[in-house]
Amino acid sequence: MKKKSKTLITFYFLVLYIALQFVWWTYLLSSLTFEVSGQKEESLRIQFSSEEIFKSALVELKQKQKRKIIMIATEGAVFLSLLLFGIYRVKKSLDKENETVEHQKNFMLSVTHELKTPLAAIKLNLQTMRKRELNKEQQERMLEIAEIESERLNNLIENILVASRLENAEVKFHPERINLSDYITEFIALNFRSERIQFEGEFNVWVMVDKNMVLPSIISNLIENALKYSQDKVIISLLSDKSIVKLCVADNGIGIPDSEKDRIFNKFYRVGSEETRNTKGTGLGLFIVKYIADICNYKIEVLNNSPNGSRFIVHLPACD
Ligand code: ADP
Repeated sequence: MKKKSKTLITFYFLVLYIALQFVWWTYLLSSLTFEVSGQKEESLRIQFSSEEIFKSALVELKQKQKRKIIMIATEGAVFLSLLLFGIYRVKKSLDKENETVEHQKNFMLSVTHELKTPLAAIKLNLQTMRKRELNKEQQERMLEIAEIESERLNNLIENILVASRLENAEVKFHPERINLSDYITEFIALNFRSERIQFEGEFNVWVMVDKNMVLPSIISNLIENALKYSQDKVIISLLSDKSIVKLCVADNGIGIPDSEKDRIFNKFYRVGSEETRNTKGTGLGLFIVKYIADICNYKIEVLNNSPNGSRFIVHLPACD
């Protein structure tokens, strides 16, 4: 039997045991109260020979008994509510832990796969170049593939390092005045070969942002995702809105269901299951984007693009 189901069985067994104990003690306390009242009633009967005095003492005794029963019932209800609340919290944290373990397992699987695939492609291209007589054009093509694959490998390792540095609070950001439109066009030219990327919108837009880690992590992860989860053009645009600049990365790809929009920022989270997904990834990219945005107090929005696809908008602080 799996460890997870064993833990759950033990958990439900304990819950059942506690609930039965609770019912038993409530029953025991109530019957004891009735028993004591019965005995007291007997002694009252012996103590008071006058029927009238006996009756008024009996009324008082019954009232006391009623108050005791109400007290037991109220305490029982409070205890039961606390117990149920505690059980609910324990179950929730057990579920969360299971989910994290599942994601970590998927992460290890996808990281291993992600590391092996580009390495295998680079190796294959180099071996082919060594073993076969290739013309200049073919050689160029093989080198280009090897370069693209090594870039992919580099991005993956970069994301793993950034995630671990962020979580160990090792990073310090240094915001500076930057011409964002120039920065983005240069960044795209340097880091992406894809002709699907298109920069639209305002030029000469200035922001106050760290350009060593914050901008590269946010821009590269959003663009990589847009390229990965769509086949069509990826539009990057800037929109100045008073004290903020909205950086928008939009695609016309598969889109993100509304129910998943909050969860995609969780560490290792990927939409769908390992069996149904046909894209490669680790679930680290958006975690990094959100983590950085939160530290810097930048708002981040995920919207549906029209007619389909997604639109990620990051609000950056503007400056003159
Ligand atoms: P991954 O390495 O899986 O791309 P991310 O953290 O970057 O990890 O993204 C988390 C998940 O969010 C992805 O697995 C994907 O399901 C979804 N996602 C992110 N960006 C997009 C997008 N532009 N279009 C559709 N789905 C997306």
